[in-house]
Amino acid sequence: MTAQLIDGKTIALDIRKAITAGVQKRVEQGLRPPGLAVVLVGNDTASGIYVQKKREACEQAGFYAEDHDLSADTTQEELNALVDRLNDDERIDGILVQLPLPEHLNADEVLLRIRPDKDVDGFHPYNVGRLAQRLPELRPCTPAGIIALLDAVGTPYKGQHAVIVGASNIVGRPMAMELLLKGATVTVTHRFTGDLPRFVADADLLIAAAGKPGLVKGEWVKPGSTVIDVGINRTAEGKLIGDVEFDVARERAGWITPVPGGVGPMTIAMLLQNTLYAANKLHE
Ligand code: NAD
Repeated sequence: MTAQLIDGKTIALDIRKAITAGVQKRVEQGLRPPGLAVVLVGNDTASGIYVQKKREACEQAGFYAEDHDLSADTTQEELNALVDRLNDDERIDGILVQLPLPEHLNADEVLLRIRPDKDVDGFHPYNVGRLAQRLPELRPCTPAGIIALLDAVGTPYKGQHAVIVGASNIVGRPMAMELLLKGATVTVTHRFTGDLPRFVADADLLIAAAGKPGLVKGEWVKPGSTVIDVGINRTAEGKLIGDVEFDVARERAGWITPVPGGVGPMTIAMLLQNTLYAANKLHE
């Protein structure tokens, strides 16, 4: 069996077209465009590339976009003051502080300071708590994007065993809550899990998000299963690869995401969707 590819680029593009139409509708009604402030501290190359993509996507969708590029020696007080100002700014519906921050800054303190109704990354405990209690509002972008991919290929969820590899705050944990909400039976594995192959072999739905290139061997994958590879790892030759041994897994799975072109584009689409939602539902 050769798996069908889940084309995140095309699915994300369709979502972004719907968002652009939603922005136009607001503007035609005399409302302001949704506003997103993107804050980047320091000059981490990977973060710079992600931020650039997010800013371009905002402009294409017709958002009001504000760029805040701060130097690597920005103090906690300066960063907090910027967040406070953006919290009070009526043109801004969403605030995104790109992680990781330089080591001297406390990311938890900053994320807690962002007003929950402007937390378009969905990382604030208020929004994570709402998801945990089955009342999702601003949902963490990467897991929400994965659900959109799974919905697009008609995943049944109920009666399925979903196995997540990785238990981080931004992917693994909220992913587990999203899949529970859909009615799947969920197992979360992490760095202390013994016998990872046993769990993977039982997964009807596998979400790999460990950030370890080739961690999941293709031969572990359950025949006919759906494989979502969240990992983004750069090889010594500069090539991007996921956490799953793609070529072998592809011969066993029913559906599989490529890296790049799978989950990545969806994360940005969900960021825009959350910002439009905040403008439409939380700020008017
Ligand atoms: P993280 O380092 O915060 O968390 C990694 C998790 O993997 C941890 O819970 C850890 O316990 C687990 N893990 C590590 N080794 C393991 C092992 N051998 N077996 C089982 N679990 C193991 O990483 P993160 O921020 O969640 O990101 C994970 C990956 O996803 C990275 O490659 C990151 O670049 C990528 N990512 C992609 C997107 C996207 O939009 N495509 C978004 C976020 C993260």
